[in-house]
Amino acid sequence: MTDQPNYFNPNFIYLVKHNIYRKSEPFAPDNVVALNNTESDFESQLPNILEKHYIAIIIYLESHSLCLNYLRNFLQLSQTYLFVIVFNSQATEDPVFRWNASELGAHMITNCFSAACSALSICMYRKHGTYPCPYCEMNKFDEVELREHVSLFHESYPQSLCCTCPICKKMTRNFFSHIFHEHGDGVLEERTGFFSICIVQRQSDKAFLMVQERGSSGFWVPGGGLNAGESYMKGAFRETLEEAGVFIDIKGILQFESASHGMWKRVVFYGEPKDENQIPKTLPDFESNGACWVKWDQLKNIKLRNMSEPMKFFRFVLDGGHVNPLEIPPGETRFYNQDPPLI
Ligand SMILES: [Zn+2]
Ligand SMILES: [Zn+2]
Repeated sequence: MTDQPNYFNPNFIYLVKHNIYRKSEPFAPDNVVALNNTESDFESQLPNILEKHYIAIIIYLESHSLCLNYLRNFLQLSQTYLFVIVFNSQATEDPVFRWNASELGAHMITNCFSAACSALSICMYRKHGTYPCPYCEMNKFDEVELREHVSLFHESYPQSLCCTCPICKKMTRNFFSHIFHEHGDGVLEERTGFFSICIVQRQSDKAFLMVQERGSSGFWVPGGGLNAGESYMKGAFRETLEEAGVFIDIKGILQFESASHGMWKRVVFYGEPKDENQIPKTLPDFESNGACWVKWDQLKNIKLRNMSEPMKFFRFVLDGGHVNPLEIPPGETRFYNQDPPLI
């Protein structure tokens, strides 16, 4: 992604107006109010914030603790229609800060100006549609806009919202999943019972790539179910790109796994980033909130969706555990006769 010119300066807070004509144009700074980093400046704008004159806020402070303070104070106003971006130069390098900011209501934590602009462009919908959002009080979306809005604004909400879909009027027990799969460009996925996960390590500092999963469920390793006809390795590559935004080289296999009842099978791969300087994903969507590099001693300070995989495989790799070659080991082929090809 080519970065656009950065209109923002550190140590300011920006309030973004909802300009309905901006939707198809690149984000421009003329609908932004810049506030000095003073509480009185912020408080003077509170009536306008509460009157919904703004669609987004960008907290661009270098100090982590100041960012968190603003979120803490800001959350007392808790307005679900305002999209909250924390723009911080070290945001992708500090999983603990990322997690704390999310817990305090930040929708997006980024240090990438073009990702922030992409989010703001989704915020600027046209208000020409007829659908309300079932999660919040915003309305007048068309089908594509509602899908984009839900993936951006409500990625971190608990996903089990039971409601009538405003588009197709079907009753759904998980609206987030419903609109993802059945509207816009969504495709209902077939459950194959085959899974790939990938333990991705950055060689320069031995940190591991972790995905901040949707629904505030915590961090986990990249991976997921294979699509029909997809190989284990392609699935691992695709899921790492979708969930973490990082291109990887898959180097080997850490483990083959199978449920005792045979209902699912999973391959645990080991990989490394193609380019250590590639910034992990920070734009929330249906796949994840974003991703970052996590060191072993930071694991205890973030919420993990499930402790077993990170603890087991990160420790194994850090201790120099053996990585199997990508070919199926002799004696294991019997096990995979009916399965998708490995590579
Ligand atoms: Zn909403
Ligand atoms: Zn529907």
